[in-house]
Amino acid sequence: MKLDAHARFSTRCIHAGQEPDPATGAIMTPIYQTSTYVQEGLGQHKGFEYGRTQNPTRMALERNVAAIESGVAGFAFASGLAAIDAVLTRLKSGDHVVVSDNTYGGTFRLFERVRRKFGLDFTYVDTSHLDRIAPALTPKTRYLFLETPTNPMLQITDIAAACEIAHRHGVRVVVDNTFASPYIQRPLELGADIVLHSTTKFLNGHSDSVGGIVVVRHEDDVEWMRFVQNAAGAILGPMDAFLIMRGTKTLDVRLERTNANTMEIAHYLEAHPKVVRTIYPGLPSHPHHALATRQMRGYGGLISFDLGTMDAARDFLGRVRLMALAESLGGVETLISHPAVMTHASVPVERRQALGITDGLVRVSVGIEDVADLRDDLAQALA
Ligand SMILES: *Cc1c(COP(=O)(O)O)cnc(C)c1O
Repeated sequence: MKLDAHARFSTRCIHAGQEPDPATGAIMTPIYQTSTYVQEGLGQHKGFEYGRTQNPTRMALERNVAAIESGVAGFAFASGLAAIDAVLTRLKSGDHVVVSDNTYGGTFRLFERVRRKFGLDFTYVDTSHLDRIAPALTPKTRYLFLETPTNPMLQITDIAAACEIAHRHGVRVVVDNTFASPYIQRPLELGADIVLHSTTKFLNGHSDSVGGIVVVRHEDDVEWMRFVQNAAGAILGPMDAFLIMRGTKTLDVRLERTNANTMEIAHYLEAHPKVVRTIYPGLPSHPHHALATRQMRGYGGLISFDLGTMDAARDFLGRVRLMALAESLGGVETLISHPAVMTHASVPVERRQALGITDGLVRVSVGIEDVADLRDDLAQALA
Protein backbone atom coordinates (compact mmCIF):
# COMPACT_ATOMS: atom_id res chain seq x y z
CA MET A 1 0.00 0.00 0.00
CA LYS A 2 1.83 3.07 -1.23
CA LEU A 3 0.19 6.41 -1.90
CA ASP A 4 1.37 8.07 -5.09
CA ALA A 5 2.37 11.73 -4.63
CA HIS A 6 -0.16 12.68 -7.31
CA ALA A 7 -3.02 10.66 -5.82
CA ARG A 8 -6.36 12.39 -6.30
CA PHE A 9 -8.59 13.85 -3.63
CA SER A 10 -10.77 10.90 -2.55
CA THR A 11 -7.73 8.59 -2.57
CA ARG A 12 -5.82 11.01 -0.35
CA CYS A 13 -8.79 11.21 2.02
CA ILE A 14 -8.73 7.44 2.50
CA HIS A 15 -5.02 6.67 2.50
CA ALA A 16 -2.85 9.74 3.17
CA GLY A 17 -0.78 9.61 6.34
CA GLN A 18 -1.63 6.01 7.19
CA GLU A 19 0.38 2.83 6.86
CA PRO A 20 -0.59 -0.63 8.04
CA ASP A 21 0.43 -0.97 11.70
CA PRO A 22 4.07 -2.16 11.71
CA ALA A 23 3.48 -4.56 14.64
CA THR A 24 0.45 -6.47 13.28
CA GLY A 25 -0.41 -5.23 9.79
CA ALA A 26 -3.72 -3.82 11.06
CA ILE A 27 -5.04 -1.77 8.15
CA MET A 28 -6.56 0.85 10.48
CA THR A 29 -4.20 2.97 12.55
CA PRO A 30 -4.67 1.75 16.14
CA ILE A 31 -5.85 4.05 18.92
CA TYR A 32 -2.57 4.41 20.78
CA GLN A 33 -4.18 5.09 24.15
CA THR A 34 -0.96 5.59 26.06
CA SER A 35 0.62 8.43 27.99
CA THR A 36 4.21 7.29 27.65
CA TYR A 37 6.57 4.95 25.78
CA VAL A 38 9.18 2.57 27.19
CA GLN A 39 12.70 3.55 26.15
CA GLU A 40 15.30 0.94 25.22
CA GLY A 41 18.08 2.69 27.06
CA LEU A 42 19.09 6.11 28.20
CA GLY A 43 18.57 8.46 25.26
CA GLN A 44 17.48 5.55 23.03
CA HIS A 45 13.87 5.42 21.86
CA LYS A 46 11.74 4.99 18.75
CA GLY A 47 10.96 8.70 18.39
CA PHE A 48 8.13 8.55 20.93
CA GLU A 49 8.75 9.89 24.43
CA TYR A 50 5.57 11.28 25.95
CA GLY A 51 1.89 11.40 24.85
CA ARG A 52 1.54 15.18 24.72
CA THR A 53 4.56 15.46 22.45
CA GLN A 54 4.00 12.48 20.13
CA ASN A 55 1.09 10.12 19.55
CA PRO A 56 0.99 7.86 16.47
CA THR A 57 -2.81 8.10 16.03
CA ARG A 58 -2.81 11.88 16.24
CA MET A 59 0.21 12.13 13.94
CA ALA A 60 -1.51 9.93 11.32
CA LEU A 61 -4.53 12.26 11.39
CA GLU A 62 -2.25 15.29 11.07
CA ARG A 63 -0.52 13.83 8.00
CA ASN A 64 -3.90 12.87 6.56
CA VAL A 65 -5.50 16.32 6.84
CA ALA A 66 -2.28 18.06 5.76
CA ALA A 67 -2.44 16.02 2.53
CA ILE A 68 -6.18 16.67 2.08
CA GLU A 69 -5.62 20.44 2.46
CA SER A 70 -2.47 20.44 0.27
CA GLY A 71 -0.27 21.70 3.11
CA VAL A 72 3.08 20.51 4.43
CA ALA A 73 2.12 19.72 8.04
CA GLY A 74 -0.92 19.53 10.30
CA PHE A 75 -1.36 20.02 14.04
CA ALA A 76 -4.41 18.64 15.84
CA PHE A 77 -5.92 20.32 18.88
CA ALA A 78 -8.60 19.61 21.48
CA SER A 79 -11.17 21.84 19.73
CA GLY A 80 -11.53 24.25 16.85
CA LEU A 81 -11.06 27.16 19.24
CA ALA A 82 -7.88 25.64 20.68
CA ALA A 83 -6.59 25.45 17.07
CA ILE A 84 -7.45 29.11 16.45
CA ASP A 85 -5.82 30.13 19.72
CA ALA A 86 -2.66 28.23 18.82
CA VAL A 87 -2.45 30.16 15.53
CA LEU A 88 -2.69 33.42 17.50
CA THR A 89 0.38 32.46 19.56
CA ARG A 90 2.47 33.21 16.45
CA LEU A 91 1.75 36.89 17.23
CA LYS A 92 2.99 39.11 20.01
CA SER A 93 1.57 41.98 22.03
CA GLY A 94 0.86 45.00 19.81
CA ASP A 95 0.17 42.94 16.68
CA HIS A 96 -3.02 43.49 14.72
CA VAL A 97 -5.39 41.11 12.93
CA VAL A 98 -8.03 41.98 10.33
CA VAL A 99 -10.98 39.58 10.66
CA SER A 100 -14.02 38.78 8.52
CA ASP A 101 -16.93 40.35 10.38
CA ASN A 102 -19.78 37.96 11.14
CA THR A 103 -17.08 35.43 12.09
CA TYR A 104 -17.98 32.41 14.26
CA GLY A 105 -19.18 33.68 17.66
CA GLY A 106 -16.64 31.66 19.65
CA THR A 107 -13.83 33.11 17.55
CA PHE A 108 -15.08 36.65 18.23
CA ARG A 109 -15.28 35.89 21.98
CA LEU A 110 -11.73 34.44 22.01
CA PHE A 111 -10.34 37.47 20.16
CA GLU A 112 -12.21 40.13 22.15
CA ARG A 113 -12.43 38.70 25.67
CA VAL A 114 -9.23 36.67 25.92
CA ARG A 115 -6.55 37.72 23.41
CA ARG A 116 -7.25 41.45 23.54
CA LYS A 117 -6.18 41.28 27.21
CA PHE A 118 -2.75 40.18 25.99
CA GLY A 119 -2.33 43.18 23.71
CA LEU A 120 -3.55 41.82 20.38
CA ASP A 121 -5.76 44.15 18.36
CA PHE A 122 -8.56 43.09 16.01
CA THR A 123 -10.49 44.96 13.32
CA TYR A 124 -13.60 43.43 11.77
CA VAL A 125 -14.49 44.16 8.17
CA ASP A 126 -16.85 42.66 5.62
CA THR A 127 -14.15 40.88 3.62
CA SER A 128 -16.68 39.90 0.95
CA HIS A 129 -16.13 43.53 -0.15
CA LEU A 130 -12.48 43.27 -1.20
CA ASP A 131 -12.03 47.06 -1.27
CA ARG A 132 -12.52 47.17 2.51
CA ILE A 133 -9.50 45.00 3.28
CA ALA A 134 -6.53 47.24 2.36
CA PRO A 135 -7.82 50.31 4.30
CA ALA A 136 -8.07 48.16 7.45
CA LEU A 137 -4.44 47.01 7.27
CA THR A 138 -1.89 48.85 9.42
CA PRO A 139 1.91 48.51 9.74
CA LYS A 140 1.14 46.27 12.76
CA THR A 141 -1.17 43.89 10.88
CA ARG A 142 0.19 40.34 10.83
CA TYR A 143 -2.85 38.25 9.84
CA LEU A 144 -5.88 38.55 7.63
CA PHE A 145 -8.27 36.04 9.22
CA LEU A 146 -10.96 34.94 6.77
CA GLU A 147 -14.06 32.86 7.22
CA THR A 148 -15.99 31.91 4.10
CA PRO A 149 -18.84 31.10 3.88
CA THR A 150 -19.84 32.96 7.04
CA ASN A 151 -22.39 31.85 9.61
CA PRO A 152 -25.34 32.21 9.25
CA MET A 153 -25.51 34.73 6.39
CA LEU A 154 -23.29 32.64 4.07
CA GLN A 155 -21.32 35.58 2.69
CA ILE A 156 -18.47 34.53 0.40
CA THR A 157 -15.00 36.11 0.33
CA ASP A 158 -12.78 35.77 -2.75
CA ILE A 159 -9.86 33.93 -1.10
CA ALA A 160 -7.37 34.30 -3.99
CA ALA A 161 -8.03 38.04 -4.38
CA ALA A 162 -7.92 38.64 -0.61
CA CYS A 163 -4.56 36.79 -0.43
CA GLU A 164 -3.15 39.01 -3.17
CA ILE A 165 -4.12 42.15 -1.25
CA ALA A 166 -2.75 40.84 2.06
CA HIS A 167 0.50 39.54 0.59
CA ARG A 168 1.16 42.88 -1.12
CA HIS A 169 1.25 44.29 2.43
CA GLY A 170 3.34 41.45 3.88
CA VAL A 171 0.35 40.06 5.80
CA ARG A 172 -0.27 36.32 6.11
CA VAL A 173 -3.71 34.90 5.44
CA VAL A 174 -5.43 32.45 7.79
CA VAL A 175 -8.64 30.79 6.58
CA ASP A 176 -11.16 29.08 8.85
CA ASN A 177 -12.36 26.47 6.34
CA THR A 178 -14.80 24.75 8.73
CA PHE A 179 -18.00 25.75 6.93
CA ALA A 180 -16.83 24.60 3.51
CA SER A 181 -14.57 21.59 4.22
CA PRO A 182 -11.60 20.80 1.98
CA TYR A 183 -13.87 18.92 -0.43
CA ILE A 184 -15.46 22.24 -1.34
CA GLN A 185 -12.50 24.62 -1.13
CA ARG A 186 -8.80 24.32 -0.43
CA PRO A 187 -7.52 27.74 0.67
CA LEU A 188 -3.80 26.85 0.54
CA GLU A 189 -4.20 26.14 -3.19
CA LEU A 190 -5.73 29.62 -3.52
CA GLY A 191 -2.75 31.32 -1.85
CA ALA A 192 -3.61 31.23 1.88
CA ASP A 193 -0.78 30.66 4.35
CA ILE A 194 -2.61 28.78 7.10
CA VAL A 195 -5.90 26.87 7.01
CA LEU A 196 -7.73 25.60 10.07
CA HIS A 197 -10.83 23.61 10.95
CA SER A 198 -13.12 22.77 13.73
CA THR A 199 -12.94 19.03 12.95
CA THR A 200 -16.11 18.77 15.05
CA LYS A 201 -18.05 19.61 11.88
CA PHE A 202 -17.53 18.19 8.36
CA LEU A 203 -14.11 16.55 8.80
CA ASN A 204 -15.30 14.22 11.55
CA GLY A 205 -18.80 14.38 10.13
CA HIS A 206 -20.55 12.11 12.63
CA SER A 207 -21.28 14.46 15.55
CA ASP A 208 -19.33 12.33 18.01
CA SER A 209 -16.09 14.24 18.60
CA VAL A 210 -14.87 17.78 19.31
CA GLY A 211 -11.52 18.77 17.81
CA GLY A 212 -9.54 21.20 15.71
CA ILE A 213 -6.67 21.15 13.24
CA VAL A 214 -4.24 23.67 11.73
CA VAL A 215 -2.50 23.04 8.39
CA VAL A 216 0.45 25.21 7.37
CA ARG A 217 2.72 25.61 4.35
CA HIS A 218 5.70 27.70 5.62
CA GLU A 219 8.63 26.09 7.43
CA ASP A 220 8.66 28.78 10.18
CA ASP A 221 4.98 28.04 10.89
CA VAL A 222 5.70 24.29 11.02
CA GLU A 223 8.39 24.86 13.64
CA TRP A 224 6.31 27.19 15.77
CA MET A 225 3.12 25.11 15.63
CA ARG A 226 5.02 21.96 16.59
CA PHE A 227 6.63 23.83 19.46
CA VAL A 228 3.45 25.45 20.78
CA GLN A 229 1.32 22.32 20.41
CA ASN A 230 3.66 20.68 22.91
CA ALA A 231 4.46 23.78 24.97
CA ALA A 232 0.85 24.92 25.51
CA GLY A 233 -0.44 21.36 25.30
CA ALA A 234 -4.01 21.69 23.97
CA ILE A 235 -3.61 18.42 22.07
CA LEU A 236 -6.26 16.18 20.53
CA GLY A 237 -6.65 12.78 22.20
CA PRO A 238 -5.98 9.53 20.29
CA MET A 239 -9.61 8.32 20.37
CA ASP A 240 -10.79 11.56 18.73
CA ALA A 241 -7.96 11.39 16.20
CA PHE A 242 -9.15 7.90 15.25
CA LEU A 243 -12.76 9.03 14.89
CA ILE A 244 -11.84 12.01 12.72
CA MET A 245 -9.69 9.79 10.48
CA ARG A 246 -12.66 7.50 10.06
CA GLY A 247 -14.61 10.63 9.09
CA THR A 248 -12.12 11.94 6.53
CA LYS A 249 -12.16 8.60 4.67
CA THR A 250 -15.73 9.33 3.57
CA LEU A 251 -15.39 13.10 3.17
CA ASP A 252 -15.67 12.87 -0.62
CA VAL A 253 -18.87 10.81 -0.74
CA ARG A 254 -20.47 12.58 2.23
CA LEU A 255 -19.91 16.03 0.76
CA GLU A 256 -21.03 15.00 -2.69
CA ARG A 257 -24.38 13.89 -1.19
CA THR A 258 -24.46 16.94 1.09
CA ASN A 259 -24.07 19.26 -1.91
CA ALA A 260 -26.83 17.49 -3.86
CA ASN A 261 -29.29 17.31 -0.93
CA THR A 262 -28.70 20.92 0.05
CA MET A 263 -29.21 22.26 -3.46
CA GLU A 264 -32.52 20.44 -3.68
CA ILE A 265 -33.69 21.69 -0.27
CA ALA A 266 -32.63 25.25 -1.16
CA HIS A 267 -34.76 25.17 -4.33
CA TYR A 268 -37.67 23.75 -2.35
CA LEU A 269 -37.45 26.48 0.30
CA GLU A 270 -37.03 29.29 -2.22
CA ALA A 271 -40.23 28.22 -3.98
CA HIS A 272 -42.25 27.81 -0.74
CA PRO A 273 -44.82 30.59 -0.19
CA LYS A 274 -44.21 30.73 3.59
CA VAL A 275 -40.47 31.34 3.20
CA VAL A 276 -39.69 35.05 2.94
CA ARG A 277 -36.05 34.64 1.88
CA THR A 278 -33.70 31.73 1.22
CA ILE A 279 -29.94 32.27 1.52
CA TYR A 280 -27.77 29.67 -0.24
CA PRO A 281 -24.68 30.38 -2.36
CA GLY A 282 -25.92 27.83 -4.90
CA LEU A 283 -29.00 29.90 -5.74
CA PRO A 284 -28.66 32.53 -8.48
CA SER A 285 -30.45 34.89 -6.04
CA HIS A 286 -27.41 34.80 -3.70
CA PRO A 287 -25.31 37.98 -4.10
CA HIS A 288 -22.06 35.99 -4.35
CA HIS A 289 -23.36 33.15 -6.50
CA ALA A 290 -20.88 33.73 -9.36
CA LEU A 291 -17.89 33.87 -7.00
CA ALA A 292 -19.09 30.75 -5.14
CA THR A 293 -19.38 28.92 -8.45
CA ARG A 294 -15.78 29.81 -9.26
CA GLN A 295 -14.26 29.21 -5.86
CA MET A 296 -16.20 26.27 -4.44
CA ARG A 297 -16.92 22.72 -5.59
CA GLY A 298 -20.64 22.67 -4.96
CA TYR A 299 -22.03 25.09 -2.41
CA GLY A 300 -21.94 23.20 0.89
CA GLY A 301 -24.46 21.96 3.41
CA LEU A 302 -25.79 25.14 5.01
CA ILE A 303 -28.89 27.12 4.18
CA SER A 304 -30.41 30.03 6.09
CA PHE A 305 -34.00 31.02 5.50
CA ASP A 306 -36.34 33.61 6.92
CA LEU A 307 -39.85 32.79 8.07
CA GLY A 308 -40.70 36.43 8.77
CA THR A 309 -41.33 36.42 12.52
CA MET A 310 -40.12 34.83 15.74
CA ASP A 311 -43.53 33.17 16.15
CA ALA A 312 -43.38 31.58 12.72
CA ALA A 313 -39.83 30.36 13.38
CA ARG A 314 -40.73 28.96 16.80
CA ASP A 315 -43.79 27.22 15.41
CA PHE A 316 -41.77 25.67 12.58
CA LEU A 317 -38.94 24.51 14.90
CA GLY A 318 -41.50 22.87 17.17
CA ARG A 319 -42.99 20.91 14.28
CA VAL A 320 -39.95 19.40 12.54
CA ARG A 321 -39.74 15.68 13.22
CA LEU A 322 -36.74 14.27 11.34
CA MET A 323 -34.57 17.38 11.60
CA ALA A 324 -33.06 17.84 15.07
CA LEU A 325 -33.05 21.19 16.85
CA ALA A 326 -29.38 21.57 17.79
CA GLU A 327 -26.31 23.77 17.45
CA SER A 328 -23.38 22.52 15.36
CA LEU A 329 -23.30 21.36 11.75
CA GLY A 330 -21.56 19.13 9.27
CA GLY A 331 -22.81 15.76 10.54
CA VAL A 332 -24.54 13.02 8.57
CA GLU A 333 -27.85 14.01 10.18
CA THR A 334 -29.77 17.19 9.45
CA LEU A 335 -29.62 19.79 12.21
CA ILE A 336 -31.72 22.90 12.42
CA SER A 337 -31.13 25.97 14.58
CA HIS A 338 -32.33 29.47 15.31
CA PRO A 339 -29.29 31.82 15.23
CA ALA A 340 -30.89 34.78 17.08
CA VAL A 341 -31.82 32.64 20.11
CA MET A 342 -29.14 29.95 19.92
CA THR A 343 -25.70 30.58 18.36
CA HIS A 344 -25.89 34.39 18.15
CA ALA A 345 -27.76 35.18 21.38
CA SER A 346 -24.71 36.99 22.78
CA VAL A 347 -24.54 39.33 19.76
CA PRO A 348 -26.26 42.66 20.60
CA VAL A 349 -29.64 43.11 18.87
CA GLU A 350 -28.56 46.10 16.75
CA ARG A 351 -25.48 44.22 15.53
CA ARG A 352 -27.60 41.12 14.80
CA GLN A 353 -29.99 43.21 12.77
CA ALA A 354 -27.15 44.91 10.90
CA LEU A 355 -25.84 41.47 9.95
CA GLY A 356 -29.32 40.35 8.83
CA ILE A 357 -29.84 37.84 11.64
CA THR A 358 -33.55 38.47 12.05
CA ASP A 359 -35.91 36.81 14.55
CA GLY A 360 -37.44 34.76 11.75
CA LEU A 361 -34.11 33.38 10.51
CA VAL A 362 -33.60 29.61 10.66
CA ARG A 363 -30.38 27.80 9.73
CA VAL A 364 -30.26 24.24 8.53
CA SER A 365 -27.22 21.97 8.20
CA VAL A 366 -28.43 19.48 5.64
CA GLY A 367 -27.40 15.88 6.28
CA ILE A 368 -27.16 12.90 3.97
CA GLU A 369 -30.55 11.32 4.65
CA ASP A 370 -32.80 10.60 1.68
CA VAL A 371 -33.67 14.06 0.45
CA ALA A 372 -37.31 13.08 -0.10
CA ASP A 373 -37.69 12.49 3.64
CA LEU A 374 -36.12 15.87 4.38
CA ARG A 375 -38.50 17.53 1.92
CA ASP A 376 -41.48 15.74 3.53
CA ASP A 377 -40.39 16.94 6.96
CA LEU A 378 -40.13 20.55 5.75
CA ALA A 379 -43.51 20.28 4.01
CA GLN A 380 -45.35 19.08 7.11
CA ALA A 381 -43.55 21.54 9.42
CA LEU A 382 -44.35 24.49 7.12
CA ALA A 383 -47.97 23.40 6.43
C1 LIG B 1 -17.59 25.27 15.44
C2 LIG B 1 -16.70 26.30 14.81
C3 LIG B 1 -15.53 26.74 15.45
C4 LIG B 1 -15.15 26.29 16.84
O1 LIG B 1 -14.86 24.94 16.88
P1 LIG B 1 -15.03 24.05 18.21
O2 LIG B 1 -14.59 22.70 17.74
O3 LIG B 1 -16.46 24.13 18.61
O4 LIG B 1 -14.12 24.64 19.23
C5 LIG B 1 -14.74 27.65 14.79
N1 LIG B 1 -15.07 28.14 13.58
C6 LIG B 1 -16.19 27.75 12.94
C7 LIG B 1 -16.51 28.32 11.61
C8 LIG B 1 -17.05 26.82 13.54
O5 LIG B 1 -18.17 26.46 12.91
